[in-house]
Amino acid sequence: MEEVKITIIGSGVVGLAVAAELSSRYDNIVVLERHNTFGQETSSRNSEVIHSGLYYPEGSLKARLCVEGSEQLYAICNKYSIPHKKLGKIIVATEQSELKILEELHKKGQRNNVKGLVIMDENDINVTEPNTAAIAALYSPNTGIIDSHSLMKHFYNRAQGNGVLFAFNSEVNSLSKENNGFVVGIQQEDYRFKSKLAINCAGLSSDYIANLAGIDIQKSSYKLKYCKGSYFSYAKPSPVKMLVYPVPHEELAGLGVHATLDLSGRLRFGPDTEYIENIDYRVDANKGERFYEAALRIIPGLERDAFVPDMAGVRPKLSGQNEKVRDFVIKDETENGMQGLINLIGIESPGLTASPAIAKMVADIVSKIFN
Ligand SMILES: Cc1cc2nc3c(=O)[nH]c(=O)nc-3n(C[C@H](O)[C@H](O)[C@H](O)COP(=O)(O)OP(=O)(O)OC[C@H]3O[C@@H](n4cnc5c(N)ncnc54)[C@H](O)[C@@H]3O)c2cc1C
Repeated sequence: MEEVKITIIGSGVVGLAVAAELSSRYDNIVVLERHNTFGQETSSRNSEVIHSGLYYPEGSLKARLCVEGSEQLYAICNKYSIPHKKLGKIIVATEQSELKILEELHKKGQRNNVKGLVIMDENDINVTEPNTAAIAALYSPNTGIIDSHSLMKHFYNRAQGNGVLFAFNSEVNSLSKENNGFVVGIQQEDYRFKSKLAINCAGLSSDYIANLAGIDIQKSSYKLKYCKGSYFSYAKPSPVKMLVYPVPHEELAGLGVHATLDLSGRLRFGPDTEYIENIDYRVDANKGERFYEAALRIIPGLERDAFVPDMAGVRPKLSGQNEKVRDFVIKDETENGMQGLINLIGIESPGLTASPAIAKMVADIVSKIFN
């Protein structure tokens, strides 16, 4: 049976970043992907925002890896000319009761080491973003947008240039622990090979892969819940220049319907949150009215007719509706009797932003396993 050193399952932005990082340190790496090319799932169905890291609980992986990842991402974008724009973002309070939440968010951001956060009053806002309904706002100058496909292509090229073998149309359907690693099985070819290390970057199927390896995903609390996020685009010129978000409320599983711009300046609203049983990317046109109303609360004067159903993505969430938000799982599973398996589960937002920092964290875990 053939043998490789490292198998990475999944070639979304996380699997690709991990492949690029590890290939600068190790040879004999394979990436397995069920689609015919990389980045066909969540990594190409998101807001493409480079987040600054202000929302996440202090000390969490989400907070740390987002702050580190955003800095690394800007450096990568500048060095390799990956299309991006540091547009800045405002979180807008539209009523007095939200001012306290805004201040708490400001402090949380500072504790998370997010740089440059400033509270703006109504006068500042009237100068910078006069078309919003804000009575105050938290300004994050380092929030930006990125062409996620170009980023993925960059990681892919780097990994391939370093000798990583990409096997597309290769869906992993078995993963069995052996003395010194794993036997990995691929459905299409009915092919089996040995790998010393298996790194699970399978996004929406990462709980399935953990289960294949023999981990009890209920006991380990790895079972994913799918949380769909739909978008409506705005078919008129954008009245704002920055990304505009509402103040987040605790009951929300996302950040609240917000306004993002793409690199061509097109305005989009979303994503909303809808827990679903089966993956389905269709956008329900009947949601138009709700999107319009939510958008009006932060940007008055929008036109209803310009709201057009756009696209949807699905968050791989570890927490269900009304449950406490969970952190990323990035874990060497030795303590579960699975030496050589590294699980990445629940990599929802800010996974795109955090991807280079996640890759470095995985590389540190790998170096400990091999040493
Ligand atoms: C609506 C929405 C908006 C978001 N907005 C942002 C944002 O603005 N900024 C941000 O930082 N993050 C954002 N995110 C989060 C970000 O998109 C994800 O964290 C990130 O894309 C996850 O990448 P991934 O590589 O882990 O997963 P994926 O991109 O899903 O990649 C997983 C890969 O594994 C493959 N795979 C699965 N099972 C198998 C198998 N058995 N065999 C072989 N291959 C397999 C899949 O085909 C897929 O290619 C958003 C997410 C959503 C849903």
